Amino acid sequence: MGTEGPYIQLRPQGGGREWDCPPANVRPVGTTKRCVECSTIKAEHAEAVAAGDVSRATDCTVLMGRHQRAAHT
Ligand SMILES: [Zn+2]
Repeated sequence: MGTEGPYIQLRPQGGGREWDCPPANVRPVGTTKRCVECSTIKAEHAEAVAAGDVSRATDCTVLMGRHQRAAHT
């Protein structure tokens, strides 16, 4: 994980492309409960990245941002 501009780059645990995440949506690992919806979105994002589907990956990032604001604030 590193920082670049206003975003924090997250890397899927299994490796792969980093994805940009607004810092407000990032929390240290272990401080939040596991969330089924987060896991689902993360899995779909990883799948999209693995498939090289940038558009779908971006959708997942947006979806995750919305979900985080709605469910984790
Ligand atoms: Zn969640």
